Amino acid sequence: MTQANAFSGSLFMVVAPSGAGKSTLVNALLAQEPAIKLSISTTTRAPRPGETHGKQYYFTSAEDFVARAAAGEFLEWAEVHGNYYGTSRIMVEQQMKTGTDILLEIDWQGARQVKKQFPQAAGIFILPPSIAALEERLNKRATDEPHVITRRLLAAGGEIAHAPEFEYAIINEEFSVALSELSAIVRAARCRFAQQAARNASLFAQLGIHAE
Ligand code: 5GP
Repeated sequence: MTQANAFSGSLFMVVAPSGAGKSTLVNALLAQEPAIKLSISTTTRAPRPGETHGKQYYFTSAEDFVARAAAGEFLEWAEVHGNYYGTSRIMVEQQMKTGTDILLEIDWQGARQVKKQFPQAAGIFILPPSIAALEERLNKRATDEPHVITRRLLAAGGEIAHAPEFEYAIINEEFSVALSELSAIVRAARCRFAQQAARNASLFAQLGIHAE
């Protein structure tokens, strides 16, 4: 059995520099497509006001994170803006085996690690419509200190440099257009032959279709 058959759910990775509007787009997609499950990452960053353990992230100490990373608990992990972030391997693999589509909101380093293990994962990069728009969106965020904003703006350039590694690029200028493009990518990925064959094994057998 190939890996694509073992995992009948689709895997999506949405990557963007801070300020490109990634979370708003992802939340709108999830509201439209409740069958997609958002993977909740573990991080060593402190919770922001309004964030709760188990909802936006699982918050933990650096010591605990490093021990779990060494034990192979994370499908991918990376240091981003001075904190560690990682995706639970067991959660992603179990859900995908049962046919659930999973969406990862991660950075380019994590996406690279996931792609090595799941070549069928769809990598989607969200771009801001201009540098000026990116700066404006970062400044409007009241939750971060000015030095954090500066660091993120510098990091944005580094993140964008990796955009060519992704299969899909969405320019988030008009929100509704960007959302419909994201939704189109999700639907197309679900129609990939291997995903359809894995989800509809008995139909494919009835029709005498045997995957290569
Ligand atoms: P924030 O602290 O603003 O929530 O996230 C900062 C950055 O970390 C974002 O680019 C986000 O995509 C990335 N990130 C969040 N969770 C993970 C994860 O599990 N793995 C990796 N590699 N990056 C993550």
